[in-house]
Amino acid sequence: MEGLKIGFIGLGIMGKSMARNLHRAGFEVTVWNRTAAKMDEAKAEWGAHLADSPKDVAAQSDVVITMVGDTPDVREVVTGEEGVLAGARPGTVLIDMSTISPEATRELAELAAEQGVAMLDAPVSGGDVGARNGTLSIMVGGEEKVLEKVRPVLEAMGKTIVHCGPIGAGQTVKACNQILCGLNLLGMVEALAFAKKSGVDLEKMIQVTSQGAGGSWALANYGPRVVKGDLDPGFSVRFQQKDLRIVLAEAERMELPLLGTATVQQLLRAVQAHGGNEDGTQALVRVMEQLGNVEITPKQ
Ligand code: NAP
Repeated sequence: MEGLKIGFIGLGIMGKSMARNLHRAGFEVTVWNRTAAKMDEAKAEWGAHLADSPKDVAAQSDVVITMVGDTPDVREVVTGEEGVLAGARPGTVLIDMSTISPEATRELAELAAEQGVAMLDAPVSGGDVGARNGTLSIMVGGEEKVLEKVRPVLEAMGKTIVHCGPIGAGQTVKACNQILCGLNLLGMVEALAFAKKSGVDLEKMIQVTSQGAGGSWALANYGPRVVKGDLDPGFSVRFQQKDLRIVLAEAERMELPLLGTATVQQLLRAVQAHGGNEDGTQALVRVMEQLGNVEITPKQ
């Protein structure tokens, strides 16, 4: 592992902290970002080596990590003319840590394998705070022996690293995570609406139920924020909708009904219709307030 050169593509909210943590762990890190200003920031802040393209990153690296947006974005940076596969040598390991479609992940891994490049899917949970603190949960799909080779790389960014199965399994588990996040969010806003209409104190309700069998991360973390009227994004409605689109497309392919998840997706669509695309997902409370004609957040 010593001396492994890491390439990092995508210095967004998540990627910029993850790349910095790799550097802090002692890896030599070369970065590329579509918007050059973010590369300059990484260079100024911790001395990142800069590359001209994903192809150039791959030519200089043993392990290439992608942390971009959606499925087409990963396709572009991996298979494009200036993409990773254009510059990678046989033996390179490609780790996609973005949240994308499991099916597309398997297709990309096949293309990579044709060039002797092993691919892992390793999406994350834990948000921008987890990325900053190096405490992400990382769900890995792909060959176990490849994971063991790069485990120290993932350990520089995350605390819980679980091999979920063959390629695509990491994305499948991340999809399960997003089903849980969506439904816990809905549970939280329904409980808040019920409490408010009944006239009980919202903070007390959150305090005690978040420690019981009905507790959830959403209730404990978003509940107090909603009560204060704080709808700023930890995780945006836009991203949650991208993830639920992936979940529902997979469910469609498997002919699996997911009634709760589909409902959450439609309710978040109503949040979007009212201009809440960039709000945090807890903005679901706004729709609940309208449906129930109940005021949960303080008047602005
Ligand atoms: P973000 O802040 O929007 O950053 C996205 C990054 O991807 C930017 O560096 C962007 O480049 C780059 N990018 C997007 N499309 C591209 C393309 N076609 N070609 C080249 N570069 C492209 O997003 P983020 O919050 O870091 O999230 C990244 C991934 O992690 C997403 O898949 C997201 O679902 C997942 N995730 C996010 C969170 C979270 O809490 N934010 C938590 C878990 C997982 P530019 O700078 O040029 O725009």
